[in-house]
Amino acid sequence: MPLTDDLYRDIILEHFKSPRNYGRLEKPSVTSHGANPFCGDELELTLALEGNGIRDLRVQPRGCSISQASASMMSEAVKGKSLPEAERLARQFKAVMLEGAAWESSPETEDLEALEGVKKYPVRIKCALLSWNTLLEGLAASRKGQSEATHVESGDGEPAEPAPELPSLSGAPRDPAGQPAGEQSPEEQAREALKAVIDPELNLNVVDLGLVYGIGIQDGQVTVTYTLTSPGCPLGPVIQGQIKSVLTRLGWVKAVQTQLVWTPPWDPRTMASEEIKTELGIW
Ligand code: ZN
Repeated sequence: MPLTDDLYRDIILEHFKSPRNYGRLEKPSVTSHGANPFCGDELELTLALEGNGIRDLRVQPRGCSISQASASMMSEAVKGKSLPEAERLARQFKAVMLEGAAWESSPETEDLEALEGVKKYPVRIKCALLSWNTLLEGLAASRKGQSEATHVESGDGEPAEPAPELPSLSGAPRDPAGQPAGEQSPEEQAREALKAVIDPELNLNVVDLGLVYGIGIQDGQVTVTYTLTSPGCPLGPVIQGQIKSVLTRLGWVKAVQTQLVWTPPWDPRTMASEEIKTELGIW
């Protein structure tokens, strides 16, 4: 059954908030360290191997919600599994994320399906793969009789920093031709003006939050396409009113239309400006 984006997000958030098998084992057979320099995610995986299986494991991730949720799901999926089965799951997960393979779903791995939504944001794929690659590295080390392993996400021939599909909305890029200050295009003026619209919940402006998806201008008529931080946001009408009011103050604006949309869903990790991400204390 195809899940909706909302459901995907709920499953990811649920694992992020209540991580499974969190922490570290006292006397692990193998300790595997993982790092994803593309996002700053790190994790330590401790494994208790017995016979040909994973008797127990703990994982201590630090980093973005995707990497932490993925680590939680990974730990749940492979606990108690034989080593070949755990490796098969890891390879299947990688094939799904990197090659678009389909999930062979089973009840114990169905949460992992939620991470498929991450494929839409190529920069986040490494976040989702980190715990699995760290697991594979740890299992490979144990086969060689080693008790320590390290995995670092690298370029691997995939585009390291694919351009996000969404236009960068923060800090409108300077015109390469050197447009003098004070001669902003109407769109830049509108964007600047919209920075006065504050999302009262986060107390940050909607432009830097990445909530403004588009500004269209024709004959003094401005159309703003925007979203809200959540569909349940009770402040929708307030923000819509503010958008109209700040734009109407621009001399050349004759009319303002607002278009509230929910696709793509707002994601501060990919849409907000760097300053805002720091401000929010996440990612
Ligand atoms: Zn990450």
